[in-house]
Amino acid sequence: MKITLAHGSGGKSTSELIDAVFAKYFSNPILNMMEDSAVVDGSSKIAVTTDSFVVTPLVFPGGDIGRLSVCGTVNDLLMRGAVPKYITSAFIIEEGAETDTLELIAKSMADTAREAGVTVICGDTKVIEGSGGIYINTTGVGFVKESTDIVSTNLREGDAVVVSGNMGDHHAAILSARMDIENNIKSDNAPLCEMVRAMLKEGIELHCMRDVTRGGLGTVLNELAKASGVNIELTQENIPVDPQVQAFANILGLDIFHMGNEGKLVAVMPSCQAQKAVEIMRNCKYGENACIIGEVKHGSGVTLVTPIGGKRQINVLYGQGLPRIC
Ligand code: MG
Repeated sequence: MKITLAHGSGGKSTSELIDAVFAKYFSNPILNMMEDSAVVDGSSKIAVTTDSFVVTPLVFPGGDIGRLSVCGTVNDLLMRGAVPKYITSAFIIEEGAETDTLELIAKSMADTAREAGVTVICGDTKVIEGSGGIYINTTGVGFVKESTDIVSTNLREGDAVVVSGNMGDHHAAILSARMDIENNIKSDNAPLCEMVRAMLKEGIELHCMRDVTRGGLGTVLNELAKASGVNIELTQENIPVDPQVQAFANILGLDIFHMGNEGKLVAVMPSCQAQKAVEIMRNCKYGENACIIGEVKHGSGVTLVTPIGGKRQINVLYGQGLPRIC
């Protein structure tokens, strides 16, 4: 069945669509009350984030817009040391969208929310004219311990820079799908709850964390270096990249430092704790290729040390990059 404008009317067709797709997968006591807003338990300090997802194609190797819309928001909460608790789900659907696709997306979203330990507490559905596109906005709420202070201004000289795995996978998977290139590259879209929880529990003194999304590692690290007034020096041979993704990037002339992920984080911590943090991440789902990639130094910007000892400056991504990656 195709979605029509009647499904967005607020009348009978709308409630049928909600029952058939959203209530079926998102059902929980808070949502089932169907009130105008959700009233939930709180915490003295909360983290809140919102993100809209417009990725195309809607379903791609390794994931789909539903899984992505939970991972992106949950990971942003985690990067401040929060425990993700609640998520909202607002769909904007263009007429002509297939209900099968919508159902696949809703199920994937519900499965990912369960994996991440968040409850979908409210939602909205709108239908507009168009040609079958689906867009999702999610807002996330997480609880933060009073003592937690993980911010981008916290980097100190001597700190180590760690990534949780291979760079560029999501970007390469989306681009492959759009260009009809056949390969085995899959998106890494994943919620990083387990590794963040484990690092906090083991007492890793996390100065800062960021998920490596749009703009890539180069852009994220430049933002951190600027916020803290430091230089970040990376060792090229330590940057983990899947050989297939590297080959793909080489063919298309893409810089791995500007390719986005959706299930990787970069963390900065005192260097004496970096090896322990790497071991913790490697023992967690989605962290098997974690490694130390560099250190924080005096100066500014991001510097890459090549295998023959040369140095090059890594800049932020200028211009468009790859649109509609998330
Ligand atoms: Mg982020």
